[in-house]
Amino acid sequence: MSKGIDMRRERTLISEIPEKVGSTVTLYGWVHEVRDTARFIFIILRDRSGFAQITIPKQSMSELISVASRLHHEDVIMVHGTVVKSEIAKLGYEIIPNSVEILSRAIHPLPLDVTGKTPADLDTKLDARYLSLRSADNQAIFKIQTTALMAMREYLWKNGYIEMISPRIIAYASEGGADLFAVDYFGKKVFLAQSPQLYKEMLAGAFERVFEIGLFYRAEKSRTTYHLTEFVSVDVEEAFVNMDEITETLENLVKHVIEKVKENNKKELEILNHKLPPINSSFKRITYDEAVEIVKSKGIEMNWGEDFGAPQMKALSEEFTSQFYFIIDWPSQLRPFYTKPDPKRPEICKAFDLVYEWLEIASGSERITDKDLFMQNLLKRGLNPADFEIFIKYLSSGAPPHAGFGLGLSRLMLILTGKKNIKEVTMFPRDVDRLKP
Ligand code: ATP
Ligand code: MG
Repeated sequence: MSKGIDMRRERTLISEIPEKVGSTVTLYGWVHEVRDTARFIFIILRDRSGFAQITIPKQSMSELISVASRLHHEDVIMVHGTVVKSEIAKLGYEIIPNSVEILSRAIHPLPLDVTGKTPADLDTKLDARYLSLRSADNQAIFKIQTTALMAMREYLWKNGYIEMISPRIIAYASEGGADLFAVDYFGKKVFLAQSPQLYKEMLAGAFERVFEIGLFYRAEKSRTTYHLTEFVSVDVEEAFVNMDEITETLENLVKHVIEKVKENNKKELEILNHKLPPINSSFKRITYDEAVEIVKSKGIEMNWGEDFGAPQMKALSEEFTSQFYFIIDWPSQLRPFYTKPDPKRPEICKAFDLVYEWLEIASGSERITDKDLFMQNLLKRGLNPADFEIFIKYLSSGAPPHAGFGLGLSRLMLILTGKKNIKEVTMFPRDVDRLKP
């Protein structure tokens, strides 16, 4: 590689080409396609901003022809050339190069065709993630994810939420334990955190409004298109709000994300051929009781007190095409031990799920702040109060009324991109079968 070139300073991005007609530019990128015809060698060059056509007449300098004719897909090159407006070139412009330099070779055969012309199955794409992430689809997906993350932080920062970072290594199976991963910690058995639950609750008692965007772990054996063992959760906790108010926060957060993606990612949505769901009306709220009635009215069996399985969710989705909705007021037995019961009807608790069609996107609730009730709930569920010592102290140290939720980033990404499998919208997914790359 040429020494001493300030690549970033010298470089023109492909998206800047229309402003550079007649000038000499330096482009860096990957050989997306190369076509050798009788009179020309055409290279489609790809960088993070798009595609450009490099046209090399066969009567060019022999050195140029010799480099160009040795190029393969995914070679990394530097092109020095003049921008010409072109009626025939599909992209509207072409670059007539003075020189092409190979910076890094791609040794063929590669496991995957980045152009997508030779389709590959999902496992092949995931195995060769370093290549598949270069495809137009994946570039679009993760540009949308960046917008989504930015929009969530923007919304939360603007509304005074403090960004928190809680530990991933925890000493006790503090949320029950069934789907916790155990880890060896200098000879002691510890666990990977499933969520920041009790930490965010304690922080609501310090900062009132907190959020965290981080990886959490579930020893989830279910092989579905929407479960991973390692997933990004967007957690929010807020003091001095009730269930209605925290669902408002969640609704506004999701709407803000969709607005921002609409605004910033027109091109990416086009590439994915995807339309975002409408968000002009407020998300409906139905109670668990009402949801059970809807399920039964569709001819699917369900008893009060049972959770919605796949057939029940599909039945519900018939009422909610392209819609987000909340299911509120759940049976207490279905929700975690820290969920606040309805004082008027204790078999019900102030919990909610945010659902899109049939897919759960987020769960949340008002939390118990009464120490005695919390202790009772622990014992009822066979949990050991000693494991909750610090949290119990918190509950008798001025813990404000609070509520919150956890939202699965990749589940939201399915809605933002129209993709069907959570692994497609995760850069390096982990599930029962996959630990690589
Ligand atoms: P599910 O019933 O779909 O397994 P859950 O109710 O067990 O989810 P919660 O504990 O409510 O999950 O977690 C809050 C949110 O985190 C969920 O609504 C979902 O969006 C996301 N989430 C939970 N578990 C996973 C997972 N294994 N993979 C991906 N996202 C997850
Ligand atoms: Mg849930």
